[in-house]
Amino acid sequence: ETPVLAAENVTKHFDTGTQTVRALENVTLRLYRGRIAALVGESGSGKTTLARLLAQFYPVTSGEIKLRGQTVSRADKAFYGEVQLVFQDPFASLNSLRKVEHNVRRALKLHGHESGDDQVHELLGKVNLTPAAEFARKLPHELSGGQRQRVAIARALAVRPAVLLGDEPISMLDVSIRLDVLNLLARLREEEGLALLYITHDIASARYLSDDIYVMYAGQMVEGGPAESVIQEPKHPYTRLLIDSSPDPERAGGSSAFTATAKLGEPPSLVDPPPGCRFHPRCPFAMDKCKTDFPPRTEFSDGSWTNCWLHEEA
Ligand code: SF4
Repeated sequence: ETPVLAAENVTKHFDTGTQTVRALENVTLRLYRGRIAALVGESGSGKTTLARLLAQFYPVTSGEIKLRGQTVSRADKAFYGEVQLVFQDPFASLNSLRKVEHNVRRALKLHGHESGDDQVHELLGKVNLTPAAEFARKLPHELSGGQRQRVAIARALAVRPAVLLGDEPISMLDVSIRLDVLNLLARLREEEGLALLYITHDIASARYLSDDIYVMYAGQMVEGGPAESVIQEPKHPYTRLLIDSSPDPERAGGSSAFTATAKLGEPPSLVDPPPGCRFHPRCPFAMDKCKTDFPPRTEFSDGSWTNCWLHEEA
């Protein structure tokens, strides 16, 4: 199956004039129709940079962004309707001075779709803002955080995208309504056949929502595969650390001996990142070659893979 949207071997460096920020190194991520992939990592790991590259906010330094197998660039106008980003802060994408209906209608119009009350109300219904006519007349500040995020999702859907990229879409919301928004995303994936990328620092919610999980550390992709394989049998020490540090009550066993020696903390600087495996300064299993060479990819029979020298022989 060809991925709807993919980042293939993508590297992104930002030149600030005095320094080079090595934000992403040779990262691959593939999104499929009707599937949810979670991209998990701490802040500063490059998750948002990858989402922005996938949405063509800025060009790659090397590698390719592919839409249905074809390499795309920022110049491809057709691309913009296909991929939509939903941000952490729902206010970021809404005009706070205009009613909900205006916000949604504008997205419809921009992409040349019919934009009558019926179309606006249908979109609000899709994101469970009912009665739609009532919500349509409200201003963004009259809504709760969760309702605003639903309007932002309705706006993204107005464009009829093939791919929705959610960058920490629930992290600013009340804990009590986070699950509602995740369930909405899961339903939209089914009903609209969307390919969905769910970006989060919370591996428990990634497990809840996603079919596939990708784990990033300091701009490198360290592990990926079917969600259950990654959670039940993490292959990379960093994934193990994320799981052990997660407050997921469903997780059995509590912290491992490993977590006692490795702790979540500040990820390394991307201006002068550690050579080799960037996790090596924090990894209790680090060997000499970890400090010089990035490990090759090792694939497993459960569909998962990792980049870690520990598995080289496996
Ligand atoms: Fe640890 Fe080496 Fe594996 Fe990196 S490659 S996670 S340093 S064992």
